Amino acid sequence: MKVLLTSDQVRERVNELAAEIDMSYPIGRELHLVSVLRGGFMFLADLARTLEGPLTIDFVTVASYGRDTRSSGVVELSADIRSDLTDRDVLIVEDIVDTGRTLSFLLDTFREQHPRSLRTVSLLEKPSRRVADISIDYVGFRIEDQFVVGYGLDYAERFRHLSYVAVLDQDTEVERP
Ligand code: IMP
Repeated sequence: MKVLLTSDQVRERVNELAAEIDMSYPIGRELHLVSVLRGGFMFLADLARTLEGPLTIDFVTVASYGRDTRSSGVVELSADIRSDLTDRDVLIVEDIVDTGRTLSFLLDTFREQHPRSLRTVSLLEKPSRRVADISIDYVGFRIEDQFVVGYGLDYAERFRHLSYVAVLDQDTEVERP
């Protein structure tokens, strides 16, 4: 396993993103953060603690069919958000945008509730894998097309707890079931 982003690099970038986000909304405006479980939990926790403006938090669970490490292309909400998004300033907090299908689906779904604003932040992005036509408002790091784990991201539910982001060599480092 090779470290791609150290915990210091991640922390520093999360602080910068929080400052950028704080500056881009009117002062005192309450943000409603919606994080995508489970990968987004660590980024959300760090980002939320660094943002200065008032905010509320909710979670959504998204299921993508198939067992592959790649997204399968079919996305559905497996646990809907509990909050009403109407007239709120919603910021979707994602761990990683790969094909963009998950984010595209969430944007379409949330837009139906007529939020006042709807923006997206993702810690990581793999631009070369993009299929869906979406724009991410705030991006932490743009990375190559490689499978990464840590800082919330998993392979078969492992490695989420790491405070850094690492590249996983699936051929040599993961036991086959
Ligand atoms: P998308 O819909 O293709 O953008 O996929 C997004 C989801 O795929 C993420 O929220 C992750 O759960 C998963 N994913 C994509 N790339 C990686 C990776 O490199 N490591 C771990 N999970 C990934």
